[in-house]
Amino acid sequence: MGTYGQEKKDVLNCAKWLSEHGYFGGYRGSGGNISVRINDSNLIAITPSGKSYHEMLSDDICVIDSDQKPVEGHLIPSVETSMHLGIYQHRPNMGAIIHTHPVFASVLSIINQPIPALFDEIAFEIGTSVEIVPYAISGSSELVQNVVGKLDNHCFCYIIQNHGALSLGKDINQAWKNAELLEKVAQVYYSALTTGRKITTLPKDAVAQINKLRCQRPPA
Ligand SMILES: [Zn+2]
Repeated sequence: MGTYGQEKKDVLNCAKWLSEHGYFGGYRGSGGNISVRINDSNLIAITPSGKSYHEMLSDDICVIDSDQKPVEGHLIPSVETSMHLGIYQHRPNMGAIIHTHPVFASVLSIINQPIPALFDEIAFEIGTSVEIVPYAISGSSELVQNVVGKLDNHCFCYIIQNHGALSLGKDINQAWKNAELLEKVAQVYYSALTTGRKITTLPKDAVAQINKLRCQRPPA
């Protein structure tokens, strides 16, 4: 299994669960990508490019350094590897990144609709606004710049225009939970929008209070 067996297992377990639950658009697909930072190093473990999740094995997960040099693994790392490395560089307290193509966040991605603060739990866990990252083609340095340009709001989730979702966490469990929370709130918000009725958002003073509480947590 190599030196980084636990990290590879963490990435694989999360990828398989998300795939089985429709987060990549199809169980047999290979869209999206997941990575974890390997503690006390400049290494990350990341899903490979073009391999179906349902047939992925632990040893298919790539370990690379911050210059994208391979350390372990026999496959080509995800096409979005530069995006993951850019996020880790800009948000040093983040330990895991999950990029998915789930249905409801994808709907919001094509109508360019950010998610306002709608529920205490979501606002506290992922942030008081889920912003839209402007479109650039997958794997491009322009997309890396567009994502990095949004990271200073210290939110844990973003929607990439005409593409999909992005969730961060201090570890794989937090990033995974945020991926689930994002898709849940995207589904609720989309469903509410289709009613044509007025949508109530959290009051301004509640948003301010939640932002204050989020700031008191260790830096994100
Ligand atoms: Zn993608």
